[in-house]
Amino acid sequence: MKPAKSSPVQIARRGLMLVISSPSGAGKSTIARTLLGIDKNIGLSVSVTTRPRRPSEVEGVHYLFKSVREFERLRDSDALLEWAEVHGNFYGTPREPVEQAMAEGRDMLFDIDWQGAQQLQEKMSADVVSIFVLPPTMTELQSRLHRRAEDSEEVIQTRLANSRAEIAHWREYDYVIVNDDLDTAFDAVQSIVKAERLRRDRRHGMFDFVRELLEETPKL
Ligand code: ADP
Ligand code: 5GP
Repeated sequence: MKPAKSSPVQIARRGLMLVISSPSGAGKSTIARTLLGIDKNIGLSVSVTTRPRRPSEVEGVHYLFKSVREFERLRDSDALLEWAEVHGNFYGTPREPVEQAMAEGRDMLFDIDWQGAQQLQEKMSADVVSIFVLPPTMTELQSRLHRRAEDSEEVIQTRLANSRAEIAHWREYDYVIVNDDLDTAFDAVQSIVKAERLRRDRRHGMFDFVRELLEETPKL
């Protein structure tokens, strides 16, 4: 049988801003990386930071590494959509790539802390979908920070000490996931993205689609 139409129906929609936060070590970057690898319709917002580069990190891929002076210049010229001090370093989201992605209806993923999530929620609430990732236990959180083996013991201790204050913000998020089994947690994130892309209020193209649908008179 011939298909009804030669190409699948495409409904224009706004891009969504997927914000993922967690205490350090809970696994948000692992989940984010997996999503970016599988889903080509979502891009990563690459933050600027004054934190020293980790051995595995690549300039421009994981972060744009800046001096404090350079960071302050960006912040003071309004080039950052949001910024915060986290674990003693500055982090911020460059404004321009986000505004461009949203205008073009592309989705973007933000691996940012609760302070950044709050700022994006205030500025662009209609576009933000936020997920908070929790570790299954505090003991496992500590083990993961050690297993990652990219930070000094001092840095790990600072991050662990800050984790309880970060976890306190879990209720500010749309979704909360416990990252016990990675596959299960990742499935949950994929389901959220799939459903959020289908939300009526994001799909402005539905107006034209329904109008044309109702104008059509089927031939007998
Ligand atoms: P975050 O970005 O939240 O700081 P990472 O994604 O860097 O955390 O994960 C910290 C460490 O924990 C990494 O070594 C990662 O491979 C590991 N990890 C992430 N999720 C799980 C999981 N569900 N089970 C076991 N280890 C995990
Ligand atoms: P890390 O040093 O482990 O890469 O990140 C430390 C914390 O800073 C994490 O909670 C991460 O999500 C957050 N972070 C990274 N980039 C940004 C950003 O641009 N803005 C904000 N507010 N937080 C960020």
